[in-house]
Amino acid sequence: MSRFTLRIATVAGIPIYLHWSFWLLILWVLISSFSFGANAVSLILWRLSLMGGLVVSVILHELGHALTAKALGIPTRDITMYPFGGVASVSRIPDKPLQELAIALAGPLVNFLLIGVFSVVLILAGESPEWAPDVLIYEGEGMPSLKAWLISLSFLNGILAIFNLLPAFPMDGGRVLRALLAVKLPYIQATRIAALIGQGFAVIFILIGIYQNPFLILIGFFVFVAAAQEREHTEQRTAMQGLTVAHALLREVPTLYATQALDDAIRSLLNSQARSFLIIDPLGLPAGSLSREQIIEALNEGRSRQSPLAQVMDTELLIVPPTMPLHEAFQMLNEKHKPFLVVAEGSKVLGIIDAENIAEYLLIRQAEGMAPRL
Ligand code: ZN
Repeated sequence: MSRFTLRIATVAGIPIYLHWSFWLLILWVLISSFSFGANAVSLILWRLSLMGGLVVSVILHELGHALTAKALGIPTRDITMYPFGGVASVSRIPDKPLQELAIALAGPLVNFLLIGVFSVVLILAGESPEWAPDVLIYEGEGMPSLKAWLISLSFLNGILAIFNLLPAFPMDGGRVLRALLAVKLPYIQATRIAALIGQGFAVIFILIGIYQNPFLILIGFFVFVAAAQEREHTEQRTAMQGLTVAHALLREVPTLYATQALDDAIRSLLNSQARSFLIIDPLGLPAGSLSREQIIEALNEGRSRQSPLAQVMDTELLIVPPTMPLHEAFQMLNEKHKPFLVVAEGSKVLGIIDAENIAEYLLIRQAEGMAPRL
């Protein structure tokens, strides 16, 4: 994460980040307001206060997703706010369609609740909550009233909820669509249909964006790529269904001793197909891992070829049981950026598992499945 990405809060153990590109948006508000001359200062205050209200609304929307997921036993890693909206990184996609439905609906529901709360505040203040979006275009003098602010923010929350409910997978409405399809269809088929419709919407966003609002182009690209990614992710998961780590276990592990020199690792790297090594201590117990990238990095840092591997290796080994579902191991490899996981049963090391071996195993399985029975 960039060092300009700001951690603004932590709610229910979920860190909330403001992505660095937000500063560009604030800069744009400042620059675009100066042409208004005498009214520039109040215009900037108005726009920034509205933006602040919108950011808080989007955070609450994302918390709606995150806290519903949490209640269903699915943790959220973090929430990151981008200028085009927030993203709650839920650790996994729920297995049950109805759970996904609840999580997806919870976000827009928060926006509708906010509109309700704002309306009550307006009524209590003796004002009528009228639907007047033209207050968004503020050109008056001085600061506008709290009434104008609440009405404008209600309007923005309405747009937010309705836009997110469009069936443009993986936006909220698209997730609702997938969940509904998945009640009747296999999960993978539901995802393919939802992703295709999502990409159709993405193209429409981009086309409208070209004529109307460049922001829509950005959202269109985001939706297009995200839909493809999520379809791929689901295909992988489906291919790994019912498989465990034991299936794709690599038993012949390229091994080096922690007391050996970096030079030995370089030799092994050049003389074999191995791209990463399990480093063991003098007793033969796993002590760390060493990947090709780490070897190159050590050389880049100017380490001598005589340095013992104990000084170069990554000592944080991830140890998993052979019974772990294969897709979980695959996800772990991707998330933790480790060259491999150590597979052990109790204190007995059985081997390792890496992304390449998983891919190989799936290819073989697929080829066998397609071959005619002889
Ligand atoms: Zn949402």
